[in-house]
Amino acid sequence: MSNAFFTVKKPLNEPILSYLQGSPERISLKGKLKELKEQRIDIPVIIGGKEIYTGNTKECVIPHNNKHVLATYHLAGEKEIKLAIEAARLAKKEWESVSWQHRGAIFLKAAELLSGSWRTTLNAATMLGQSKTVYQAEIDSACELIDFLRFNTYFMSEIYTDQPISTNDNWNRLEYRPLEGFVLAVSPFNFTAIGGNLPVAPAIMGNTVLWKPSGAAVYSNYFVMKLLQEAGLPDGVINFIPSSGNLLGDVVFNHQELAGVHFTGSTQVFNTMWKTIGNNIEKYNSYPKIVGETGGKDFIFAHKDANVEQLVTALIRGAFEYQGQKCSAASRAYISAQLWEEVRGVLIKEASTINVGNVEDFSNFMGAVIDQKAYDKIKGYIEYAKASDQAEIILGGRCDDSLGYFIEPTIILTTDPHFKTMTEEIFGPVLTLYVYKEEDFEETLDICNSSTIYGLTGAIFSQDRGALIKMEAHLRNAAGNFYINDKPTGAVVGQQPFGGSRKSGTNDKAGSKLNLLRWMNPRTIKETFNPPTNYRYPYMG
Ligand code: NAD
Repeated sequence: MSNAFFTVKKPLNEPILSYLQGSPERISLKGKLKELKEQRIDIPVIIGGKEIYTGNTKECVIPHNNKHVLATYHLAGEKEIKLAIEAARLAKKEWESVSWQHRGAIFLKAAELLSGSWRTTLNAATMLGQSKTVYQAEIDSACELIDFLRFNTYFMSEIYTDQPISTNDNWNRLEYRPLEGFVLAVSPFNFTAIGGNLPVAPAIMGNTVLWKPSGAAVYSNYFVMKLLQEAGLPDGVINFIPSSGNLLGDVVFNHQELAGVHFTGSTQVFNTMWKTIGNNIEKYNSYPKIVGETGGKDFIFAHKDANVEQLVTALIRGAFEYQGQKCSAASRAYISAQLWEEVRGVLIKEASTINVGNVEDFSNFMGAVIDQKAYDKIKGYIEYAKASDQAEIILGGRCDDSLGYFIEPTIILTTDPHFKTMTEEIFGPVLTLYVYKEEDFEETLDICNSSTIYGLTGAIFSQDRGALIKMEAHLRNAAGNFYINDKPTGAVVGQQPFGGSRKSGTNDKAGSKLNLLRWMNPRTIKETFNPPTNYRYPYMG
């Protein structure tokens, strides 16, 4: 048994590589993109370390070139989901007895592999499978995932050092046990890093996990699973089970040993999960910990003293990077009438230069949206705005799915701050603007605060400190990640812990200690050195 108190190096965020013309990273990425496109791989279910090819398959296609099939993936059926639960139960005993430093070493090693030889694979897979530009892939599947792995290991070690006070007569200890049972991780399509983090965070704390990736991100997520295996993750600790959400729910939410759910995705799916768990509550051995980061309707609020160039850059990057498919994407903005004419001119001029197309062409700022379902939904919102007399499309609005699911960056100007596209999550490259009169400044802040069900991210712009103070106070509960003179996207692990409340989730802040605290079951141990030998208290005599 080791007898030292080990420490984990405090991590620094992974540097973002530039991918400039002629750089080694650009050359190797281009090579990897070509290599992956020339193959068509078969992706198995991975349970207890074993690869299972069920024969019930679906395809992974390139969203910006949707006739190109990258992979066939096998779906877990009821039998495999039950097998995965058994594998997680079996692996648990050994995994929870592995010392924390050895658990941590596996994830630190995975981070190191990803920072080096695995980087191009994960980035290329994310670019092809999810239609991310090189920069969007680099900040997601490389930097953010590396940060999650390193910071979570560091935060784990910090949590373990947190101990209660003791007296001379007793010693109080807090032991951070993993949960009793298994954890279900269900991840969304839009971030490879979230795919990795959802199973990894509970696993770092000593839990074993069933990981259901999104059908639209199986391709990159499979490589994450292979990376974790190469780093030495023992069989059964994380079980990779692409499957139908409904079928998975039927099996997992009826199992008495369900101990936790780590979910990121839409509010609607999370509501269904929560209701099912609530209805089944008598069946479980413990109360399952439910962590969910869900939808958003994120805002930018511009005061009359905002800097126009800064504001326009934030609107464009915030609304259109990754085709607006970020939970944090700016999708509604409130602009002071005093600024509007200038903002309109610069915004239209700048946004008109955006190139949409194949992300393998590095000059494109945007790729395609993820799939036909998303394309149809986003197009529906644009059609709705086109038909409305309360809205005008001032940029974009054209959609074309003949080669890939392409939607132009679209800006809608509305006269109604409660307009449909001002209040509902669209999850596409659509920004709606509302221009307010100066005398309605406070009333418009109230509308910004209360007109949606969400509370995820938001940004305010002004050069006037007094106005910033007023806006920050007014919008206190409107966003879990609040930005001053910056876009509302791009949270960095360790710098801006991420998550929101209201119908945006349980706000357990991914990539922070707060999240890891949900995956444990602490035990307080009190040892008394001189126990009393008589039940009578002195005052009784
Ligand atoms: P989604 O809700 O459609 O799917 C998320 C996951 O749930 C997928 O793996 C899906 O297959 C699964 N699923 C669907 N129905 C299910 C069911 N009945 N039972 C069990 N699992 C089921 O979301 P998406 O389209 O992949 O991602 C986009 C959504 O995620 C947006 O709403 C976005 O705001 C949200 N999101 C939130 C955050 C955050 O941190 N708040 C981050 C990323 C994405």
